[in-house]
Amino acid sequence: MSELTTLRLGGPARSLVEARSEFELLAAVRGEPGPLLLVAGGSNLVVADAGFPGTVVRVLTAGVEERERDGCVELTVQAGEEWEPFVARCVAEGLAGVESLSGIPGSIGATPIQNVGAYGQEVAETIVSVRVLDRERDVVEELPAGDCGFAYRSSAFKRTPGRWVVLAVTFALERRELSAPLTYAELARTLAVAPGEGAPLADVREAVLALRRGKGMVLDPVDLDTVSAGSFFTNPIVEEGAFAALEERAAEHGRPPGFPEPDGRVKTSAAWLIERAGFQRGHGNPSGIAISSKHTLALTNRGQGTTAELLALAREIAGGVRDRFGVDLVPEPTLVGVDWP
Ligand SMILES: Cc1cc2nc3c(=O)[nH]c(=O)nc-3n(C[C@H](O)[C@H](O)[C@H](O)COP(=O)(O)OP(=O)(O)OC[C@H]3O[C@@H](n4cnc5c(N)ncnc54)[C@H](O)[C@@H]3O)c2cc1C
Repeated sequence: MSELTTLRLGGPARSLVEARSEFELLAAVRGEPGPLLLVAGGSNLVVADAGFPGTVVRVLTAGVEERERDGCVELTVQAGEEWEPFVARCVAEGLAGVESLSGIPGSIGATPIQNVGAYGQEVAETIVSVRVLDRERDVVEELPAGDCGFAYRSSAFKRTPGRWVVLAVTFALERRELSAPLTYAELARTLAVAPGEGAPLADVREAVLALRRGKGMVLDPVDLDTVSAGSFFTNPIVEEGAFAALEERAAEHGRPPGFPEPDGRVKTSAAWLIERAGFQRGHGNPSGIAISSKHTLALTNRGQGTTAELLALAREIAGGVRDRFGVDLVPEPTLVGVDWP
C-alpha cells in the first residue's frame, strides 16, 4: 500500500482490483464478500504496516459531463477523475466555486467523503448530488447534497465507513469573473482585497497555490514536507464552556483562535494548540516520521518511517495537547487497520 498512499506507508493488500468504468467498479465492489478498501489518490489514508487483509479496489473511473442548468453550469464527474485538474479546468472556463480548493491532491470521488475544504471554501457549497452505490441496500442512487450530512471535514459517508461507494459527483458552478467573497483572512491579505470581497478566479487560484506550496501542501516528489496525508488533525470544535476553560488554561499564550459555529460551539486551531503544547515544526525523526518543517499540522515520512512510528508521534502530540489544554485532537485521514487513540 506504500505505493498507493501519499505518505508512502502501509503493508501489502491481500488483493488489488483496478476499476476503470462504473461497470467495473460496481462489479468489483459487489463481487467482494470480505473486507474491502476503496483507494483513489491515497492522499487521506493511513494503512497499517501489516497491510490490509482484504481486497483493495482502485477507483480509476474517468469522464466529465457538462451542461447548463438554471443559469449555472453543472458538471457530473466520475469518481476516479483527479480533483486538481478539475479545479484548473473550472477556473480556466470562468466557473466560480472551487477556486480556493486549488492544489488539493486526490480524486473527485473522495471529495464528498470528508467534505474537502480549504481557505474558506468546501465542496458542500457546490455539490448538487452524489451518485452512490448503497452497499447496505444494494441500490445505485443519486443522493441530493442535503442527504449527504455534510459538516466540517465530515459527511454521512465518513461517519458510516464502508456503506457507500461514490460513483460520481455533480457540481453546480456559476459563470463569474470574480470568486465568492473571500472569508479567509490570509488569502484576502495575499490578494490585497478586503475580507468579504471577491477577486478574479485565476488570481485566487494562483494565490492559493503559492500559499499551499509555502506550507508543503501541494504534492511535490522532491519535497519531503509533502510526503504526508495533508493535515493530520482536524481543528477541534468544542462547547462554549470548554472554549472558556481553554482560554483560561492558555492565558499565558494569549487568546486561542476561536471561530463561532452555527450551533453555538467554537472551532479552534489545532496548529495553535500543538505549537503552544511545545511541538515545533521538524519535531520527530529526521529520517523517519516528523512534523513537516513548513506546517505544524502535517506529519511527514522522511523516507524510513513506518505507520507505527507515525501513530506514535500522533499520539505523543495529541497526548501533549490534552495534558496541556484539555482538548482532544481527532485525526483527519482514514485509519485502516490501526486503532486511535
Ligand atoms: C499534501 C496534501 C494536502 C492536502 N490538503 C487538503 C486540504 O486542503 N483540504 C482537505 O480537505 N483535504 C486535504 N488533503 C487530504 C486529501 O487530499 C483529500 O481528503 C482528498 O479528497 C483525498 O482524495 P483521495 O482520492 O486521495 O482519497 P483516498 O486517500 O484514496 O481515500 C480517502 C478515503 O475516501 C475513501 N474513498 C476514496 N474514493 C472513494 C469512493 N469513490 N467512494 C467511497 N469512498 C471512497 C477511501 O476508502 C478512504 O476512506 C490533503 C492531502 C495531502 C497529501
